[in-house]
Amino acid sequence: MPSMKKIALLGSTGSIGTQTLDVIENIGGKFDVVALAAGHNLEFLRRQIRKFHPKYVCISDEHNANILRTEFSDTEIFFGDNGLVELACLDDVDIVVNAIVGAKGLIPSYRAIDCGKRLCTANKESLVMAGEILTERAKETGAVIFPIDSEHSALFQSMLSGKHSEIKRLILTASGGPFWNKDVDFDKIIPVDALAHPNWSMGQKISIDSATMMNKALEIIEARWLFDIPLEKIDVLIHPQSIVHSIVEFVDGSQIAQLSLPDMRLPIQYALTYPERFESPMKPLDLAEIGNLEFCTPNKDKFPAIDLAYRVLTDGGNSPIILNTVNELAVESFLMGEIKFSQIVRFVIQALDEIPKSSVSSLDDILSADRVASEWFEKRIRNR
Ligand code: NDP
Ligand code: MG
Repeated sequence: MPSMKKIALLGSTGSIGTQTLDVIENIGGKFDVVALAAGHNLEFLRRQIRKFHPKYVCISDEHNANILRTEFSDTEIFFGDNGLVELACLDDVDIVVNAIVGAKGLIPSYRAIDCGKRLCTANKESLVMAGEILTERAKETGAVIFPIDSEHSALFQSMLSGKHSEIKRLILTASGGPFWNKDVDFDKIIPVDALAHPNWSMGQKISIDSATMMNKALEIIEARWLFDIPLEKIDVLIHPQSIVHSIVEFVDGSQIAQLSLPDMRLPIQYALTYPERFESPMKPLDLAEIGNLEFCTPNKDKFPAIDLAYRVLTDGGNSPIILNTVNELAVESFLMGEIKFSQIVRFVIQALDEIPKSSVSSLDDILSADRVASEWFEKRIRNR
């Protein structure tokens, strides 16, 4: 019997994390969950430990780590950022799944790559902040970065039908979120409306990113680095049904796409098992039942976030980090009722206009650009 692949799952208590554990359970006997990491959801993590018996666990704060130590004497319990770094580089781990939300995912991704692991990443923010550094480091260490994001999984699968040099265009599809075709006042949108995604059930941050369509900007940047494709070859297409997960156009004019019902367990499973495919419990796609697939170009006046991807990639340096950091903080502020929905993207644009440009060539430069952008945002919020 082939040996089981050993997995460290970071962000196990979230939407992607729990679906990853579903996939591992359903597929049975192929993967061993060696390590789990979570933020604050102690009770959920406790249940996961009881079920999957990981050798290593990490939780954000020390107090919770001490509680777990008294309950699970056979498990090595870590905490905080240092703990995440330990889990990303364990000798007895083959695959690191990064399902942490936000900039917190950056250092664990870097560390997994540094240690030559197969990194299956849902965390797109790390690629937005440090795509070039992460992909260059992967070339040096032999690490493989595999996308879990459904659009990027679709692009990866579609790319298999041609050579990299034959790619003419990547077409990222976008559902458009809850507001793309609604005549709503963006000043009046409240969190509960923005969180109600029509096709996907996801964590809070990505749900808001989908509503502002900043998610698509993050995904353009993610695609640029993951696939080493120039910016001008990446387009966005609105596709409200979320069946066509993205398209690769080749130089002969052929467009190859990947289709399935919107269910993240499929790209998660593919990332874990590639180059093999296995049966899955996902509902099969019945196009006759779906009936219609619609496509249209995005309204960039209504959703100015999309074009920010082109702006920050053209500017380079600290610009993508400013976009990511200020967006993340603005989303948090919106969820806490501190700012309006319309202000999320406006703050990002203002930060890009006001924060002086700087070059970025190391992880330290990135962390310092992140700090500068955070301080800029805190000041704006406090002085309002
Ligand atoms: P969730 O908010 O559902 O989950 C986030 C996870 O990160 C939780 O397990 C949370 O732990 C954990 N976490 C947060 N802070 C820390 C920390 N300091 N240390 C360790 N763990 C931490 O997010 P999603 O699962 O929706 O998204 C995760 C990533 O995947 C994001 O980058 C998102 O953009 C991307 N993605 C998500 C998709 C989806 O369908 N959900 C689709 C495509 C991409 P806890 O809850 O215990 O605090
Ligand atoms: Mg996506």
